[in-house]
Amino acid sequence: MKSISLLGATGSIGQQTLDIVKDHPDEFHIAALAAGKNIEKTKEIVRAFSPKLVSMQTEELARELQKEFPSLDVTYGTQGLVDVAIHSDSSVLLNAVLGSIGLESTLAAIRQQKAIAIANKETLVTAGHLVMAEAAKYDAPILPVDSEHSALWQSMNGENRKSIERLILTASGGSFRDKTRAELEGVTVKQALNHPNWSMGAKITIDSATLMNKGLEVIEAAVLYDMPYDKIDVLIHRESIIHSMVEYHDSSVMAQLGTADMRTPIQYALSYPERLPRSTAERLDLAKIGQLHFENVDMERFRCLGFAYHAGRTGGTILTAMNAANEAAVSAFLQEKITFLEIEDMIDRVMQQHDNIQNPDLETILAVDKQTRKIVQGMIK
Ligand code: NDP
Ligand code: MG
Repeated sequence: MKSISLLGATGSIGQQTLDIVKDHPDEFHIAALAAGKNIEKTKEIVRAFSPKLVSMQTEELARELQKEFPSLDVTYGTQGLVDVAIHSDSSVLLNAVLGSIGLESTLAAIRQQKAIAIANKETLVTAGHLVMAEAAKYDAPILPVDSEHSALWQSMNGENRKSIERLILTASGGSFRDKTRAELEGVTVKQALNHPNWSMGAKITIDSATLMNKGLEVIEAAVLYDMPYDKIDVLIHRESIIHSMVEYHDSSVMAQLGTADMRTPIQYALSYPERLPRSTAERLDLAKIGQLHFENVDMERFRCLGFAYHAGRTGGTILTAMNAANEAAVSAFLQEKITFLEIEDMIDRVMQQHDNIQNPDLETILAVDKQTRKIVQGMIK
């Protein structure tokens, strides 16, 4: 039985993680969890999964939860995320909180030698070098949840990583893959949230439409698999059936395929090295699909992917600045304060004016993250 600390329990990945726990009651158990502001959903989860500790985003919400469950341990805020992540009953942290706020709790869990199943890609983008160094030092496994990185991982099973020539990340292309640059001018939030293949949280759905999600994933792949950026390619694959591929130096290409269902990579991260059955999963029927399509990315139309390659190759705090600018700009777009194309403009301006610091420590990263959000707020006004 694996006991899990779950951050982001009320979100898209959090809910699908709970589906997996429900499907395998003899394998998994939720020891502690953190939610943001959705208290009603949190109450339902507490009733269904009986965790020992729950964290809410604010003190007020924590108090409200405590009233309903007097014997439950309740905490809140960033420290609450840490408390949940290092709960003494859990052996695994599944980090599915949104944004770089997940960084400190990830580092804290690594220092307790917990296995880290990571969906929270912003943490690996903003501070990948710190996370991987601490993970090596404390011997804490980092297990990818993101479907592309799970596919890469599965395509590396039993292989000598020295024979890898190239990682190929597939991308659906997002909501606007068939729009020209001119057509992107007037797009609405509602249109942007209409992803063709995946049902996900709002922020990552917008990131998919700008292709920043793929940019973050390129960095995530470089960090997780210690690969140089010129060995990581992106390929548009509109069906999202091949979740990513690894090319070896003998010219063989290994891929992982499946229907677009995040529960499969979530479960694999939790059950690794075993595979557990997924009786409710839709099976892949290639004959029914008939054809798979592939095309190169238009880097002029999707500028964010270029920003991410640039930040990744440069290294240092520009990664934090790019990520924080993106988080702040996407949030402003979702609140209809800026247009779709202003997202990339703001990230571009932040990156242009950034004074880069190489090998930043945690304190520097947190300071740059905070400062960048302020800069973006200033641009919005
Ligand atoms: P959602 O927006 O659906 O969920 C985010 C979760 O984080 C919610 O539980 C939310 O709480 C919580 N949260 C947000 N801010 C805070 C905060 N300040 N303090 C505490 N909790 C907070 O996002 P997703 O599930 O889509 O994504 C989560 C992560 O997983 C992201 O990093 C994303 O890139 C990654 N990911 C997601 C995929 C997907 O299919 N959705 C695929 C691959 C990666 P509440 O709702 O209660 O406010
Ligand atoms: Mg992904």
